[in-house]
Amino acid sequence: MTDLTRRTLFGSAAGIAAGIGLVGPALGASLPAAGAPEQEPQSLRGTVTDGKVSLPPLHQSSEQNADAPNPMPPGKRLGIAVVGLGALALENIIPGFGETKHVRLTGLVSGDPAKARAIAAQYGVPEKNLYSYDTFDQISNNPDIDIVYIVLPNALHAEFTIRAAKAGKHVLCEKPMAATVAEAQSMVDACAQANRKLMIAYRLQYTPEHRTVIDLARSKTFGAIRMIEAVNGQNDAPNGQWRQIKALAGGGSLPDVGLYCLNAFRYITGEEPIEVTGQLTRPANDPRFREIEDISMFTLRFPSGVVANGTAGYSFHESRFLRVHAETGWFGLDPAFGYDNLTLGINRKAGMASSTDSRRFSPKSQFAHEMDAFAASLHANQEPRTPGAEGLQDMKIMAAIYQAAAGGGVVKLPPVDGLDTTRGPWPKELGAFVPTVG
Ligand code: NAD
Repeated sequence: MTDLTRRTLFGSAAGIAAGIGLVGPALGASLPAAGAPEQEPQSLRGTVTDGKVSLPPLHQSSEQNADAPNPMPPGKRLGIAVVGLGALALENIIPGFGETKHVRLTGLVSGDPAKARAIAAQYGVPEKNLYSYDTFDQISNNPDIDIVYIVLPNALHAEFTIRAAKAGKHVLCEKPMAATVAEAQSMVDACAQANRKLMIAYRLQYTPEHRTVIDLARSKTFGAIRMIEAVNGQNDAPNGQWRQIKALAGGGSLPDVGLYCLNAFRYITGEEPIEVTGQLTRPANDPRFREIEDISMFTLRFPSGVVANGTAGYSFHESRFLRVHAETGWFGLDPAFGYDNLTLGINRKAGMASSTDSRRFSPKSQFAHEMDAFAASLHANQEPRTPGAEGLQDMKIMAAIYQAAAGGGVVKLPPVDGLDTTRGPWPKELGAFVPTVG
């Protein structure tokens, strides 16, 4: 059998070119003749161990060197069915499968069969793995589906989480976890009873940008942190979408975008707040705010003495930043809560001046990171980093903020000892975290 190496191929191409009378230098003329010894040393070809390829570093060790991605073979990846084919599913989550290594898209659940068929054709999902909300429970018989990813309006999260757990599937559920604390608790209980894992899709906790902020805070690189502030807001259209209907959303800007500020304050400190305050606005005669708040402002006080100040809104130009103020420097992200271009800023004293530097990380779909992290937790039979308990705690704190805003003044919360009490371990897949600032 002919050994079709690059050289023999080029050699025969050169012969064919010469045979049909092409002019000019023969194709491949500068290459050694077929059969010449390979000049590339073995050490540069890399190695294969246990089905994984390693390539030698291309650059000096002081520079960035990427690893070969080594995705799992498709048949070994966990299958995910996406429930709800709206904006987030179609624009971000489903395209994110293009970058996953441990999961693949195997099912779709939609109220619109034509839409489901169109998306299935685009992404290669077999027709037998398409479900409606009514036939959803039949996924229990489908071995292609290991995980159900719920991307429905907030008030539907509990129903579909409970149905998915009863069908024997693990659940990845979008934030906010639910529309009420009681619904969130019922989701935790249902998954525990069915012995299925529940992860809340707090995508940012899995990103290198937010992990760097966590590391800078926890390592006290700039001394103890004293105060954290964050804004997350946008200007929504008056289109009557479910976010503007309290029964479907559970609230306004607070559970939708303010939640990112709240969750960040908790994962940066690792602590749970002992006091909250809240203020809301609801502009009169604006159809967007017939049922829900526009601006939500809140403060948290943590046991260590750190205070945090968060603001969210639905009526101002997009603004999404996070800043941690520590004794000898500040650091944060701007933008902090979007899907891309997150930029880390660090400011510190430098001699007689102050210096600010700015860092960007290699872009990768946040949804790919998050879905792969869930698969890694399932493979290791560990709690996800952001399990149901993480979402439930945010729901309880948001309920306290609403109580404070409704005239409750400073609302106290039960003290919690220890750090990260609502979180599982970081999945090994994300790698050991190396602090980026000395
Ligand atoms: P969307 O309105 O674009 O999509 C919602 C989907 O649910 C649509 O396909 C709609 O047809 C379907 N649906 C089923 N029953 C419905 C009902 N009774 N009323 C309205 N729609 C119904 O919303 P989205 O922006 O994709 O948000 C979906 C979920 O994802 C929400 O929980 C939201 O908070 C969350 N989300 C998370 C992020 C993130 O960054 N993680 C970003 C956006 C949205």
